[in-house]
Amino acid sequence: MAKELYNLGEMPPLGVIPKKMHAWLIRAERFGKPTEAFQQEVVDVPSIADDEVLVYVMAAGINYNNVWAGLGIPVNVIGARNKAGEKEDFHIGGSDASGIVYKVGKDVTNVKVGDEVVMHCGQYSRNCEWVKNGGDPMYSPTFRIWGYETNWGSFAQFTKVQAQQCMPKPKHMNWEEAAAYTLVAATAWRMLHGWGANAIKKGDVALIWGGAGGLGSMAIQIAKAAGASSVAMVSGEDKFDYCMKLGAKGCINRNDFDHWGMLPHWKDNVGYAKWMKGVRAFGAKIWEVLGEKRAPNIVFEHPGETTIPTSIFVCDTGGMVVVCAGTTGYNATVDLRYLWMRQKRLQGSHFANTEQSNQMNELALRGLLDPCLSRAFTYDEIPVAHQLMHDNKHPHGNMAVLVGATAFGQGASGKPPVAISHPTLPKGDVHTTPHPYPMSEPLPSIAEAAAITIADDGTQVKDLMHRGIIACTPGDTVGQVAKTMVDHEIHAVVVMDGGLAVGVVSQTDMVLARQGRTSEEARAMRAGDIMTPGCATCDAHMLLSDAVSLMTGRRMHRLVVTENSQPVGVISMTDVVRKIIGE
Ligand code: NAP
Repeated sequence: MAKELYNLGEMPPLGVIPKKMHAWLIRAERFGKPTEAFQQEVVDVPSIADDEVLVYVMAAGINYNNVWAGLGIPVNVIGARNKAGEKEDFHIGGSDASGIVYKVGKDVTNVKVGDEVVMHCGQYSRNCEWVKNGGDPMYSPTFRIWGYETNWGSFAQFTKVQAQQCMPKPKHMNWEEAAAYTLVAATAWRMLHGWGANAIKKGDVALIWGGAGGLGSMAIQIAKAAGASSVAMVSGEDKFDYCMKLGAKGCINRNDFDHWGMLPHWKDNVGYAKWMKGVRAFGAKIWEVLGEKRAPNIVFEHPGETTIPTSIFVCDTGGMVVVCAGTTGYNATVDLRYLWMRQKRLQGSHFANTEQSNQMNELALRGLLDPCLSRAFTYDEIPVAHQLMHDNKHPHGNMAVLVGATAFGQGASGKPPVAISHPTLPKGDVHTTPHPYPMSEPLPSIAEAAAITIADDGTQVKDLMHRGIIACTPGDTVGQVAKTMVDHEIHAVVVMDGGLAVGVVSQTDMVLARQGRTSEEARAMRAGDIMTPGCATCDAHMLLSDAVSLMTGRRMHRLVVTENSQPVGVISMTDVVRKIIGE
């Protein structure tokens, strides 16, 4: 007879399902830092649907998603599910696991009770029309990340998963190793293999950001298995050896370069030339570490804002920059000339579908994928492991916790098919990576986006603007325009042509015009040659907050104000600063 509840580590007889289980729960009333949000509780073991499987969890992988789940931001995952009709007022997280199948639904054919499995975290409804018609489940509106967007993740004695999530556990791995790699490795697999003509192939060169990180360490190994050469990016030479042992052909220390960040404006000759010098030196370094003059066919991206300009520049003609995150920011700046003339591809990628996860797992089963487990914890330490992540004090590589396994190192039942060296990271190595955005996040769709309420005191542009337009014509010389600016103590002049405002000459435009020219040459130029064409305008009755958004969005400092579509004045960021800080 089944006991109602088994102690942790006391394994129920195979196939025997107790009524209750131990689990780490997050509840809305204790949202906050991981050591407070996660609490041990006893709950009912969930029932399963016909296409589902109940797995006795031996070990679970740790991912940043459940730091966010515990904080309750940017989404209250419990509230979101309650809204969708689920009744549980708690969240059991955990999006990676290894374990043993204890019960299967009546439609399940790919696994049976007793199978040792690992699980990928992609769930979707098998009744979704898109999926039924053969569409990639990653594009299904029903797609969810198990253990973050769904409940019943792996931080519990039993987890409820869809049968399609289950994949054979590599016999040569212990439980905690097997629980550590699936999420990052499957993501890296889709990025490298999932994009048609640009999929990685023998002889390719791959540039891999964060080579010692969770995704990067998997990408190096996947590239190697495909017969490609990879160049691993890291932030210190102490991580070179680790990446080389994983199979990188060479490594680059990103701290040897300083051209990172958003692109300078294309009109900024000096800034652009400086950036170009930096990125060219970086390109030369790639050639040096490769030992041949080759550009990467594929760039494996996730830092985002600070690295995308470089990634796109160094990518080969017809190559692909594939991105699954924006850890340093989301505004990727692209010099479109390089994108269209050299016909490169900037491709978004997110987790992986069932087929791709299994292709990745095949590599693990063949002993060609080291799980890169950097630290394992006991069940009691689940909140601590998340707290380390929250505080950016966790080691690089992947982390796992024991759940059903009673000691570290259990569960390996076979020899690796090939000899694996387990590279280790430098001692004391911890993250400097900014906190990542949750891996999966409901984004507003085009027409349904809920309006954001903006705190606003009702101030309108007309309340702060300067009335009157100081203008010039396109044929006026830059010298004349400069005098107008100095005489009126203004920062920009509107260019009027036949009664229409056709552009603005700002002080920035003037400074940029002087670059590479003598002052005489610059003074002799015409306003029409150096102006920023078009005129960013706002109506005098526009809310100040909207005008500010317009300026920040376009990276400008002023707008021409119109009344009845006629230019009547100017509002600048200086006016806004005066109001919000006070004079
Ligand atoms: P990770 O283990 O923290 O590794 C990230 C690496 O990025 C670090 O090792 C760091 O290496 C490097 N890095 C940090 N700051 C950088 C900068 N300014 N410029 C260049 N490199 C920098 O994280 P991960 O597991 O690899 O995940 C990376 C990102 O992908 C996260 O945002 C994660 O949420 C996301 N992700 C997305 C999916 C998806 O399906 N969409 C799946 C998994 C992960 P160095 O300091 O050595 O350079």
